[in-house]
Amino acid sequence: QANVDAYHAALAKVRAELLGKHYPLIIDGERLDTEGKLQSVNPCDTSEVVGSTAKATTEDAQRALDGAWNAWAEWKTWSMDARARILLKAAAILKRKRLEACALMSIEVGKNYAEADVEVAEAIDFLEYYAREAMKYSGFGASETTWFDGEENGLLSIPLGVGVSISPWNFPCAIFAGMLAAPIVAGNCVIAKPAEDSGMIAGFVVDILQEAGLPAGVLQFLPGVGEEVGEYLVQHARTRFITFTGSRGVGLHINEVAAKVQPGQKWLKRVILELGGKDALIVDETADLPAAVTAAVQSAFGFNGQKCSAMSRLVVVDSVYDEVVNQFVARAEALSVGTGEANANVTAVVNQESFEKIGKYIEIGKGEGKLLTGGETPGECGGKKGYYVQPTIFGDVPGDARIAQEEIFGPVVSVLRARDFQHALELANSTEYGLTGGVCSRDRARLEQARAEFEVGNLYFNRKITGAIVGVQPFGGYNMSGTDSKAGGPDYLGNFLQYKAVTERF
Ligand code: NAD
Repeated sequence: QANVDAYHAALAKVRAELLGKHYPLIIDGERLDTEGKLQSVNPCDTSEVVGSTAKATTEDAQRALDGAWNAWAEWKTWSMDARARILLKAAAILKRKRLEACALMSIEVGKNYAEADVEVAEAIDFLEYYAREAMKYSGFGASETTWFDGEENGLLSIPLGVGVSISPWNFPCAIFAGMLAAPIVAGNCVIAKPAEDSGMIAGFVVDILQEAGLPAGVLQFLPGVGEEVGEYLVQHARTRFITFTGSRGVGLHINEVAAKVQPGQKWLKRVILELGGKDALIVDETADLPAAVTAAVQSAFGFNGQKCSAMSRLVVVDSVYDEVVNQFVARAEALSVGTGEANANVTAVVNQESFEKIGKYIEIGKGEGKLLTGGETPGECGGKKGYYVQPTIFGDVPGDARIAQEEIFGPVVSVLRARDFQHALELANSTEYGLTGGVCSRDRARLEQARAEFEVGNLYFNRKITGAIVGVQPFGGYNMSGTDSKAGGPDYLGNFLQYKAVTERF
């Protein structure tokens, strides 16, 4: 309760200090305004305009790229330790501003306090983890040497140069911070293009990194429209790498655009993609059923299902199907729906486009499965107009139905009936995605089979399947879910380094 009270005090402070605030572009340390603006609107109460960011143009992007390359000449010579200290300082500042960050997320993207708090903790973890990982590299170009046949062999790790980080709105603090922190601490300069719906929280994080002492030009802040400034940066000859987290469709498009070599381009662009999911939880007859249902509810409806790691397919073996589904529906119906700041379990989805897309899938679902609960998109709650969608569950959904195959990214779950465990695993593997998966079972042989055969980047047994802990469960998906870069894992910094093997004969 003490924390919740402090959070409400932070909400009042954020409303007093940040409401109506405008976050400009930052190029070479200079704050610049643009003609256009991107407005942030509270999705839980669309009458509230939270503030705005600048809207970068392609000319701004060109200047940001040139400035970043200039800044890189100096930044690449800093020691890993010196760079890591800036991240650690930023983490310390974010710890002090934790409640403010939570409050801003509640009004900019509709996160409830519990979800927002976990997210800020994750952002802090990313900053500290990548700093610690960087410190393991003893410095620019240093490496262990091996002797062979009278020769000394070294492997130098070298930053790539200047890259672009394009991020989503659903983890606007943690993913945004992590996608900058890793390439920056590895010695690169980064142009950050946040999602249109979460530019303010991105600006809030950038301000913290500046306050921590990041030199001008190392991080250029370019809020703007994805198809305009984002795509311009992706195709540009001077972009060395692209790190993208977002939807499958945009990710595939970026992959194509980045593959085309532009006149004057000297390199193959490195492209890191973390995309969507259609995550399944399998429940068999040996499982602790109430625990499995708790896992299903938490992972399906946390942040309204707007997580790449959200469970959107519950695959239940026939003999316990009715029992599991009845409990699951009852628990979903007990969830509160309301604003993020009232800490409702389910809040409004992020924007009009998502609201309409989810509504469309619910209509499709009514023809494909049995509507068990929800199914309405009231668009208001407690007298507030917002993008409210009822938690919705469809039963007996065929494995090949659209609602069982396509990412909906909202509080909508398809329940699939499996003949037995083998069939459940086949259904779980039957999408093109492969991000997270879960199994609730007490049968050791089945768990071992799933360990070998479940095609996902993050697999959870008998546990709620909501994402990963930084430094403990490296995160990233297979197949159409991405390039499996394993954010928050020991190899992640390597995505932003190139290596030179040097051999010297004495
Ligand atoms: P999105 O693909 O719509 O947008 C992501 C970013 O790409 C935004 O910054 C957007 O402005 C930009 N963009 C859009 N078109 C572009 C273009 N043509 N060129 C360059 N940039 C462009 O995704 P979203 O709605 O912001 O986020 C939700 C999606 O992200 C879901 O599919 C979710 O599963 C996925 N996601 C994946 C992970 C993961 O780790 N795998 C984590 C979080 C979210």
